[in-house]
Amino acid sequence: MPDKYDVAVIGAGPAGYVAAIRCAQLGFNTVCIDDFKGGDGKASLGGTCLNVGCIPSKALLDSSEQYHRVKHQCSIHGIQVKNASIDIGEMLARKEKIVQSLTSGIKQLFKANKVTSLHGHGKLAEHSSRGCKVEVEDGKEKRIIEARHVILACGSIPIDIPVAPVDQKTIVDSTGALDFKEVPGRLGVIGAGVIGLELGSVWGRLGADVTILEALDTFLPTVDKQIARVAQKQFEKQGLDINLGCKVTEAKSGENGVAVKYEDKDGAHKTEFDRLIVCVGRRPNTNDLSHESVGLKLDDRGFIEVDDSCSTGLENVYAVGDAVRGPMLAHKGSEEGVAVAEMIAGQPFHMNYDVIPWVIYTWPEVAWAGKTEEQLKDDGADYRVGTFPFAATGRALAMSEGGSGRVKFVADAKTDRILGAHIVGPYASELIAEAVVAMEFEGSSEDLARIVHAHPTLSEAVHEAALAVDKRAIHKAN
Ligand code: FAD
Ligand code: NAD
Repeated sequence: MPDKYDVAVIGAGPAGYVAAIRCAQLGFNTVCIDDFKGGDGKASLGGTCLNVGCIPSKALLDSSEQYHRVKHQCSIHGIQVKNASIDIGEMLARKEKIVQSLTSGIKQLFKANKVTSLHGHGKLAEHSSRGCKVEVEDGKEKRIIEARHVILACGSIPIDIPVAPVDQKTIVDSTGALDFKEVPGRLGVIGAGVIGLELGSVWGRLGADVTILEALDTFLPTVDKQIARVAQKQFEKQGLDINLGCKVTEAKSGENGVAVKYEDKDGAHKTEFDRLIVCVGRRPNTNDLSHESVGLKLDDRGFIEVDDSCSTGLENVYAVGDAVRGPMLAHKGSEEGVAVAEMIAGQPFHMNYDVIPWVIYTWPEVAWAGKTEEQLKDDGADYRVGTFPFAATGRALAMSEGGSGRVKFVADAKTDRILGAHIVGPYASELIAEAVVAMEFEGSSEDLARIVHAHPTLSEAVHEAALAVDKRAIHKAN
């Protein structure tokens, strides 16, 4: 006899495990099926995010940042540290410990919420208006479960490019780049996107000579131009050699590393690296997810087709997270998971796709939400801009973080409603939250301008940028 559930969730990444917990909280008998195995070959919950994505990359970003500060910034404070060194083995072990603590935490949360956790590959085998059958295959064993509702949360995997075949030794994807046992002398990176910049920064801070080869002519095209320009200058100052408009034509692993050929406006080039990271985007992990007879619709790039409320068009079958349209971000997937669970329980779907924060965890950090100035220009919108530099705040100066970072708001010229918030600077990841709350509440720059902000804090730059929209910032000329 098959096991019977109210809800079956396929995938235990941040979209799936959060959906499963919320379903259980709402009183549904819930099962979550996941096939991820860690480097040790053992099942590990949490998907890309916890195992090989957000968390391990942030652990390494933090370690490398601490090391970089000790080596290059302590002296500003009069602190002299001679012969500082880093043990890469210990750094990786710390990262693994954090991953282990969080992934086993999901196991505990499943237990506490009475979510049944099954290891194996899940496949939507049958669908009717009465419910679904899901095949779960783990090695040789195959079982069938029945569920009234199914939430597909199968996530994404790195995109491969034939010119640079990943062997996880010298040519690696993001997973391999989280595990270099030593700092590569010369590190090549294909793609100046989020992963290229974050992992390029990690190994660059630890001493690698980093060269980034990016196909597009524009640096971070989805980021507000003014902010992207500041970020690019800072990254280049830190030693990242960012090359735009490059077409990689060949990457070959050999005894001594990787030989790379690429073309740009100046012609054809050859270069060599000790390691090469390929990070040119991710694609949905929808292979073998459903039987053809079920009729689950995928688009031509493999994304599961869904409507505005994550319904697949098959009754009671939903899809969330990286496998569906929208940004590939953990928090976007988690919130979709919650929204779908609540919709199954009869509540309205509550996602607001217009206000999803993005963060690049480099230093300075880059964070934004809503529309860029360029998008508003293209839309023909009438808007006002307010910017404020961190260099004019006491707290940033006290931290030696004046730099060229800034906060920028774009607001509707008539209603003053905040349409976009853009930050490059220290702890932009934390500061963006205030703007997101204001935008979610359809707030105006005036709303933020009238709020008392603690002194001295970095958030004063947010306050002053809001004041600057109306040309009344106090600590700069308007
Ligand atoms: P995933 O996390 O990919 O999880 C899907 C799970 O489903 C996996 O465990 C997979 O094995 C399993 N699965 C797939 N198909 C099946 C099946 N048929 N049966 C059973 N199980 C299946 N995002 C951020 O918001 N912030 C960050 O800082 C950030 N940093 C990142 C750093 C790196 C290096 C990478 C690679 C990604 C990063 N991301 C970040 C992106 C983030 O990891 C993803 O957006 C997020 O993990 C997507 O969640 P998900 O649940 O949709 O899918
Ligand atoms: P990305 O889309 O951010 O960047 C990929 C870059 O590679 C782009 O600039 C693209 O123009 C370039 N590119 C594509 N093909 C190329 C080629 N053949 N040669 C040279 N350049 C090429 O993708 P990513 O950095 O791989 O990250 C994947 C996704 O994972 C991100 O889009 C994001 O959704 C998620 N992620 C988020 C975070 C975060 O939130 N901090 C961190 C890491 C990853």
